[in-house]
Amino acid sequence: MKIFNTMTRQKEEFIPLSEGEVKMYVCGPTVYNFFHIGNARTFVVFDSVRRYFEYRGYKVNFIQNFTDIDDKMIKRANEENTTVKELGDRFIEEYYKDADALNIERATVNPRATHYINQIVEFVKELIDLGYAYETNGDVYFNTKKFQGYGKLSKQNIEELQLGARIDVDERKKDPMDFAIWKSQKPGEPAWESPWGMGRPGWHIECSCMARDLLGETIDIHAGGSDLAFPHHENEIAQSEARTGKTFANYWMHSAFVNVNNQKMSKSLNNFFTAREILEKYDADVIRMFMLSGHYRTQINFSLELLDSTKAALDRIYNSIANLENLLDEVKVENITESEKEYTKTLTSYRQKYIEKMDDDFNTADAISVIFDLVREINTNVGSNSSKELVKYSLDLIRELGNPLGILQNSKKGSIEEEIEKLIEQRQQARKNKDWALSDKIRDDLKAQGIILEDTPQGVRWKRI
Ligand code: AMP
Ligand code: ZN
Repeated sequence: MKIFNTMTRQKEEFIPLSEGEVKMYVCGPTVYNFFHIGNARTFVVFDSVRRYFEYRGYKVNFIQNFTDIDDKMIKRANEENTTVKELGDRFIEEYYKDADALNIERATVNPRATHYINQIVEFVKELIDLGYAYETNGDVYFNTKKFQGYGKLSKQNIEELQLGARIDVDERKKDPMDFAIWKSQKPGEPAWESPWGMGRPGWHIECSCMARDLLGETIDIHAGGSDLAFPHHENEIAQSEARTGKTFANYWMHSAFVNVNNQKMSKSLNNFFTAREILEKYDADVIRMFMLSGHYRTQINFSLELLDSTKAALDRIYNSIANLENLLDEVKVENITESEKEYTKTLTSYRQKYIEKMDDDFNTADAISVIFDLVREINTNVGSNSSKELVKYSLDLIRELGNPLGILQNSKKGSIEEEIEKLIEQRQQARKNKDWALSDKIRDDLKAQGIILEDTPQGVRWKRI
C-alpha cells in the first residue's frame, strides 16, 4: 500500500513498525460545540483509512483525542455560565451521537487532555531537564531554536516560518517562534498544580503525550486536517523528538478542507453547517459517499445540490442491492452452475481493481467508480435466471467493497415493491384525473426499470420483464 507522506511530499510504500499492525493517531475535535461538516470530512476520511487497513487484514490501534481544555473551551464555558468540565462532558456525548450516526467506527481509545495532566506535567519537566524548554513566570515555552529539525514538516526553516506566520510578539518568550507547553493560570480559569504553579497545558503537548502513552515513542501514522500541519504537528514533532531522539511518526497524512459554495466555511459568512443539521436531511451513506468521492488531499466543495446528486447516484446502487435482495427470495436455482462459476472471475476482477485504487493512497474517488462499474455489470448479467448462490455472491461483493467506505450496508429489501405500488397508485389517480400524459409517463418510467403493468378487471398488476 502506498501513502502520501506530508513529511517527504511523496507516495511511499507503507511499512508498519510491527507486522500486521497499524498504530495511528488522529487529532480530534475541541469539544466546545457540535462538529461541522469540515470536521466530519476529516473524521470520515480517517475512519475509511482505518477501515481499509482492517479490510486488508491489519489490526489498527486507532487513537483520536478530545481537546477538552483550551482558550475556546474556557470562553464558551464562561459564555454559557458553566464549567469547562461540564461543557466537555456534554459535547463529547454529542460527538458520539453524530459520529455514530455517520457510521464512524469508535476509536480504540479517545483520550481526553484533562485526564492526562500528570503525564503532561512529567513531559514538560523532562523537556526542561533536557534543555529544550524554559520557564518564565509560571509559563513554560518550548525553545524552537534548540530543536534542529524545527520546520521539517512544513519544509521551511525558522526564519521563513517567522516571516510567514503572524506571531504575537511576547516578551516572555526568547524567540517569537517559541510556543507554550504550559500556561500559568489567569483569573477565573481552571488550573492544575504543577512545579511552575497553578496552570494548564498548552494545546500541542497533549497529543505528544497521549500518543506516546497509548501507542509508544514512534508511531506509524499521524493524521489530521491540513490546517494542523503547521504549527500543531510541527510542534508535536519538536516536543516528541526532542524528548526521545527518535522519529515521532513514520507517515504524516493530512486531509484537505471542505468549502461551502466555493467559499471558506465560516459563521460570519453564514455558510456554516453542522454535521447534525445535514444528518437530519440526508442518510449517513449519502454524506459519506459525498465526502469520499473526492480524493482526500483535494478540497471539496459542499452544497445541498451536490448532496442531492450524490443521493441520486447512491440510489442507483441501492436499487441494485434491493433487486438482488428480492431475487434471493425469488430465484429457482439454488446452486451455482459451471458457467456462473466462470463468470465470478469477471466479478472478482472488480475487487482487484478496487484494491489497486485504494492501495494507491486511498483513492476513494476511483474506488467508488469501480463500485459503479461493478453494479452495472451485475445489473446486466445477474437476474431472475441466475442461481441463488450467484445472486448472493454479487450482493456480498457490493457490500464488501462498500464496507471500507462505511457505505452500502443497509438493507432495502421490499422497498422496490413499495415504490412500485406507490407509483401505480399515482398512475391510477392520474387516470381518474384524465391526466393521460402523467399516467403514460409513469408507465414508461416503470418500463425503463424493467417493470410492466397490466390492466386487468381485478385492477393493475405488475411483473418484471
Ligand atoms: P478542531 O475541532 O477545529 O480542532 O478540528 C478537528 C479536526 O477537523 C482537525 O483534524 C481539523 O484539522 C479538522 N478540520 C477543521 N476544519 C475543517 C474543514 N473546514 N475542513 C476539513 N477539516 C477540518
Ligand atoms: Zn494533535
